Amino acid sequence: MKKQPKASHFIDGKYIEDDSGIPIDVVFPATGEVIGRVFAATPAIVERALASAQLAQTHWAGMTGRDRGRVLTRASEMIRERNRELSVLETYDTGKPLQETLVADATSAADALEYFGGMAGSLTGEHIKLGADWVYTVREPLGVCVGIGAWNYPTQIACWKGAPALACGNVMVFKPSERTPLCALLVAEILIEAGLPKGVFNVVQGLGEVGASLVSDPRVAKVSLTGSVPTGRKVYAAAASQMKHVTMELGGKSPLVVFDDADLDNAVSGAINGNFYSSGQVCSNGTRVFVQNSIKEAFLKRLVERVKSAVIGDPLDEATNFGPMISHEQMDIVLGYIDQGVAEGARLLCGGTKLEGDGFFVAPTVFADVTDDMTIAQEEIFGPVMSVLGFETEDEVIARANATEFGLSAGVFTRDLVRGHRVIGQLQAGSCFINSYNDAPVEAPFGGVKSSGVGRENSKEAIKHYSQVKSVFVRMGDVESAF
Ligand code: NAD
Repeated sequence: MKKQPKASHFIDGKYIEDDSGIPIDVVFPATGEVIGRVFAATPAIVERALASAQLAQTHWAGMTGRDRGRVLTRASEMIRERNRELSVLETYDTGKPLQETLVADATSAADALEYFGGMAGSLTGEHIKLGADWVYTVREPLGVCVGIGAWNYPTQIACWKGAPALACGNVMVFKPSERTPLCALLVAEILIEAGLPKGVFNVVQGLGEVGASLVSDPRVAKVSLTGSVPTGRKVYAAAASQMKHVTMELGGKSPLVVFDDADLDNAVSGAINGNFYSSGQVCSNGTRVFVQNSIKEAFLKRLVERVKSAVIGDPLDEATNFGPMISHEQMDIVLGYIDQGVAEGARLLCGGTKLEGDGFFVAPTVFADVTDDMTIAQEEIFGPVMSVLGFETEDEVIARANATEFGLSAGVFTRDLVRGHRVIGQLQAGSCFINSYNDAPVEAPFGGVKSSGVGRENSKEAIKHYSQVKSVFVRMGDVESAF
C-alpha cells in the first residue's frame, strides 16, 4: 500500500502497533484506492498513551520556557525543510490539491510551532504591589491535554493544538480524524527528531469512541476539539461533567456580504476562496453570500465565468486547483444537499453533479435566488456549494446574516471602510474579514461565537486556553486576627 505508515500509533517516542483494534482503511479520495491501514486504539493503547504523557509532563513543565521553545522552533524548521514530503502526504490523506497543501498545511503547522516556540520563554506572571504586601501570579500549565482533529487540515490541526499546549508546558495526546490518520504521525516523529522528550506528544488512532474515552479519563485536564457542532455538544458535556477546560472549534454557515460599491473581482475572489478552497471543506467558509441586488446579476455572471475555469482533477498534479471530497459518504451528503436546493427552488447556475470516475469529486456548485429558509442556506454542507442571496439594505442584511445558530466567521466587501467596520461590528462571528476572506495567520485569534465554538486558537489568546493562573499573596508584616 502506497502510504502505509510505520505503525498506527506514536507513543512514548516511538511507533506502536496493536492490530487487535478496529481496522481503519486510509483511502485516497481522488481515486478511492486504499493506500494504507491503521488500527483503532484499544483500551490498552489509550492507557499507554495517557500514562506516558502523564509521566512526561513533570519533566517537560520543569524545563525553562526557552528550552521548550527551542524544540518547537527546531521542529518548525524541519517541517519547512520537509514541506514537499509533508504536503504530498497531506494530499494523499485528504485529497486536497498539492497546489494548496504546499502553501497551506505544513507551512501553517510550521508557523504555529515557530510562533509559540518563540513565545514559550516569555510566558510570565505579574507582580501586583499592595502597599508593603504584594501578590505575584504564575502562569501554570494545565497538565495532560487531549487534541481531537477533523479531517480537513490534519497537519495544521495537530500543530495549532500541539504548539501552544506544549509551549505552556502541557503534554498532549492527539487523536486525528479516522479519515486522515497519516499526517499527525509524521508530525509526532518530527517533534521527536527535533528533541521533544518522549511522551510529550503522543498520537492514537480511532473513531469517536476512542476520542470519548480520552475525554472522560480523569487524568486529562483539557480537551481541544475541531469538529462538527453535534460532536462538540457531546464532547463539551463530557468534559464539563469533570470540570475540564475546553476549546471547541466547530462548524459554521458564515455570511459574506458584498455591497454594491465593492470591487467586483475582489469580491468574487473572496467568494471563491470562501467556498471552493479545499473543495469547500473549510469550517469558516462564507457559504451564504449576500449580494446587494443592484449588482447581483453582474456578480453572478463574473462568478460563474471564473468558477468554470477551475482546474479539477488529480490533486497530485500541481496544475489542479480543485480536488475531491474526503469520502464517498461526504460526497453523497453534499449531493443530497444539492438535490434539496433544487427541490426547494434555488436556481442552479453551475456544477451540481458528481464528476465521472472513482474519485469523490463534486463539481463546484453555485446556487442563486436562495432564500433564508432553504435548507442549503441554513445547514453546514461542508462541500463546494455556494448560496447567493440578494439584499437591499444594510440593516436588513445584518439581521439576516445573524439569523443563525452559528457564528464562526463573517466577511464584508465594500469600498466604504466606515461601513465595512460598522457592519463587521454588528455581525455575530469570531473571525471576521473586511475586503478579504479566510485568511488565518497564526498571529490572529481564530474561533467562533454562539454554537460555533468556545475559546480561541492561535495568537496570544491561545496561551490563555492552555494555561491557568496561580496567584500568591505575600504578607511582609505581622498577621492580624480577630482573636
Ligand atoms: P466530526 O465532528 O464528525 O469529528 C471530529 C472528530 O471528533 C473526529 O476525530 C471524530 O473521531 C471525533 N469524535 C466523534 N465523536 C466523538 C465523541 N463522542 N467524543 C470524542 N471525539 C469524537 O467532524 P468531521 O466530520 O471530522 O469534520 C467536519 C466538521 O468539523 C465540520 O462541522 C467543520 O465545520 C468542523 N471544523 C471546524 C473547524 C474550526 O476550526 N472551527 C476546523 C475544521 C473543521
